[in-house]
Amino acid sequence: MSGRVRSMKRRLAKVEQTLADRKKEEDLVNCLCGRHVLAWPGHAKELKAELNRTCPVHGFRQVGLIHCLKFAATEMTPEGEKERFRLEDAELHQVIEEYKSRKLAWKRLRSRPSPVGP
Ligand SMILES: [Zn+2]
Repeated sequence: MSGRVRSMKRRLAKVEQTLADRKKEEDLVNCLCGRHVLAWPGHAKELKAELNRTCPVHGFRQVGLIHCLKFAATEMTPEGEKERFRLEDAELHQVIEEYKSRKLAWKRLRSRPSPVGP
């Protein structure tokens, strides 16, 4: 292989790498993953919708930390309200657990080695 061909191959590889890097940067602009999501009782449906959004870049949307607010009942809180707090809290945690399960399944799928072709 002549020096000229080697030089052209190196330059071609550099151009290909630059294009691949640029594509990655463009894709990341569309990424919907985040670092934090706020959740609070009584809004499980909204949280579920938020956690079910997909990222156009990564497929599964990684939301980062889920900060979960909790209403604390006191002895002055009516029993009906205490029960509502408990139900809303349970509903919220169910949505979060479902998200965690889907995230775990997605991670397992990603870490699986790709099948070797013939
Ligand atoms: Zn993403």
